[in-house]
Amino acid sequence: MEGLFESSVKGPVEKTHPAFWFVFKEKRMLCVKQEAENNPLFVVDIRDIGIHPDRELYLGLLDGFHCYVAEVSEPTRVPEGMAFHGLWSIHGSMDENLFKVAFRAIHTLEWDRTDQYCSFCGSRNRQKVQERAKECPQCGRVSFPRISPAIIVLVEHDGKALLARSPRFKEGLFSVLAGFVEPGETLEDAVSREVKEEAGIDVKNIRYFGSQPWPFPDSLMIGFTAEYAGGDIKIDNDEILDARWFSAEDMPEIPGRISISRALIDWFLDRQKGKKT
Ligand SMILES: [Zn+2]
Repeated sequence: MEGLFESSVKGPVEKTHPAFWFVFKEKRMLCVKQEAENNPLFVVDIRDIGIHPDRELYLGLLDGFHCYVAEVSEPTRVPEGMAFHGLWSIHGSMDENLFKVAFRAIHTLEWDRTDQYCSFCGSRNRQKVQERAKECPQCGRVSFPRISPAIIVLVEHDGKALLARSPRFKEGLFSVLAGFVEPGETLEDAVSREVKEEAGIDVKNIRYFGSQPWPFPDSLMIGFTAEYAGGDIKIDNDEILDARWFSAEDMPEIPGRISISRALIDWFLDRQKGKKT
């Protein structure tokens, strides 16, 4: 796939052409297995193959093909050659551009599911026609898909990277520091605060690295690199169980390739390799 995505809330009046269908049951996506690849369904309408969704939303066009997200509930008969998979397990076996739409799909679906009612007056929301938003017919409150910005940062010092262990991680795994942005903060403020709070370290030269949507349920990870400016490692024992400086030679177990945390650590490792040669 080329990966050109045109977002839209208004699908075709009639379904006449094969489209990509991102069908979820809870957090798992229905995939067609084709040799080593997993793919979303590519049919005109999933009802034609006996799948009747509880909800359906139009997402837009990927390289000119319509994309839909749909939710099904138990019991749904899974057609031959298809299976539900967690998004983690199919990363790497699905086209990267289709995978990006799968992230978009699950985020949009989750927003639709959890934003059925106006959070101010409790009336049932209705979808707006022209934009990805809902409107309360009673009080007029408009709500948009929630996107929660979180910073993620690799701090460097003397050829070493600051990595930490969260209680949520499996045994032995270390990663870069991350945290949600608070109201009133710039992204740089959030970087400084998080590193100080979680590891007791001051940072300088904060630079933007890249970003990644993380729809579990609604984060946008905004990656930075930073340099050590002072302080000794002091962990809070609440959000962080352990934090240490690691050199490229003594890396612990690190996150898988799907995440921006891994991209940050790979960037550090590449730089160290470059310095040696
Ligand atoms: Zn309302």
